[in-house]
Amino acid sequence: MITLESVGKTYGSVTALHDVTLSVERGTIHGIVGPSGAGKSTLVGCLTGLVTPTSGRVVVDDVEVSAAHARSRRALRRRIGMVFQHVNLFDQRTAAKNIAYPLQIMRTPKGDIAKRVAELLEIVGLTGRGDSYPSQLSGGQKQRVGIARALATRPPVLLADEPTSALDTETTTSILQLLREVCDQLGVTIVIVTHEMSVVREICDSVTLLSAGEVAETGTLEEIISDK
Ligand code: ADP
Ligand code: ADP
Repeated sequence: MITLESVGKTYGSVTALHDVTLSVERGTIHGIVGPSGAGKSTLVGCLTGLVTPTSGRVVVDDVEVSAAHARSRRALRRRIGMVFQHVNLFDQRTAAKNIAYPLQIMRTPKGDIAKRVAELLEIVGLTGRGDSYPSQLSGGQKQRVGIARALATRPPVLLADEPTSALDTETTTSILQLLREVCDQLGVTIVIVTHEMSVVREICDSVTLLSAGEVAETGTLEEIISDK
C-alpha cells in the first residue's frame, strides 16, 4: 500500500532523511517511531506530498507521490486521512458539523452528508453526541471526532501523527482500540507516528525505528521487539 525506496531529503546542509526504505502492507498498522529530530515529520510530509524528497521514490496507493504533479498530489492528499495530536476542531461547530466539513468541501449532497455523518458517529462510538460542541467533549471524544472527520471521505490510508500524545493512559488505550477497529473492520491502512514505544507495542503490526534521519530497524513488531 505504501513504499518508500531510498528516500532522501536535505534542507541546505541538513540531512532530514537519508536512504529511507520501508513498506506498509494494505490493511495493517505501521508505526514510525523515533525521538524528536529523527525525521518523522519530514517522512509524513513525503507521504502526503507536502515535502518533495531530494532523492528516491514514494508510492502511496499506486500513486507515485514523489513524481506526481502538484495537482495530482492534491488529489492524493484527499486519499490520506490525517489525525493530529491537537485535534484542531472548529470550536464554533458541533461534532457533526466538524465531521461533515471535508464532505462539504467536496460538495457532497446534503442528504448523503447527514447519512454519512451518522455512520461515522457510530463507527467512532459517538452516536447521540453529534450536536455537542468540542468544549462539551472530553479529550478522547474530541480525538474520536478527529478520527471520524479523517475517515469522512473514505480514504484508504489514515496517517495519525502523535494521536495519543495529549491523552492519559486509559484514553490512549481506547483510542488505539478504535484505530485497530478502523483497520480491521474498514480495511484502512494506518500509519502512526509516535515517540512512544508503548503505543507501538499495543497496536502496530509493523514498525520503523528512525534515528537521525535513517532507518535503524524496520520489520514486523515481533522482529523489532525480539531484537530488544
Ligand atoms: P521529527 O519530526 O522526528 O522531530 P523532523 O522531520 O521535523 O523530525 O526534522 C528532521 C531534521 O530536519 C531536523 O534536524 C530538523 O531540524 C530538520 N528540518 C526539518 N524541517 C526543516 C526545514 N523546513 N528547514 C530546515 N531544516 C528542517
Ligand atoms: P459499503 O459498501 O456500504 O461501504 P463496507 O463493508 O465497505 O460497505 O463498509 C461497512 C461500513 O463502513 C459502511 O457503513 C461504510 O460506510 C463504512 N466504511 C467503509 N469504508 C470506510 C472508510 N474508508 N472510512 C470510513 N467508513 C467506511
